[in-house]
Amino acid sequence: MNYSRQRQIILESLRENAVHPGAEYLYDIVKKEEPNLSLATLYRNLNRLAGAGIIKKIEGLEESAHYDHNTHEHYHFLCTKCNKIFDVSSDVAPDLLQKTESQTGFKVESYDIIFKGICNECR
Ligand SMILES: [Zn+2]
Ligand SMILES: [Zn+2]
Repeated sequence: MNYSRQRQIILESLRENAVHPGAEYLYDIVKKEEPNLSLATLYRNLNRLAGAGIIKKIEGLEESAHYDHNTHEHYHFLCTKCNKIFDVSSDVAPDLLQKTESQTGFKVESYDIIFKGICNECR
């Protein structure tokens, strides 16, 4: 199987599973379409896609990284009951990056802002 086809399937699976899956969750889904794909190959593809800025890798949530097809500025909400991750629009704090940069003089290259709590479904 060539790289572009693998990439296509991985991107589609990420888009259809908007809960920001981890690689192993994603692997179970992708494997249904591509039984020959190994977990190592999936990791390699995810890292390539993240390196190219096509998807976003979210680290520091749990032991393993999660992946996000949404690369626009936004924050995350982790439900501590169901472990799903939801997007939170950056509208809640629109000047956050700009203020951080102007107050510190630092150049922000990336950030991970994660709210934790109980989602609507679990409440
Ligand atoms: Zn929940
Ligand atoms: Zn997201």
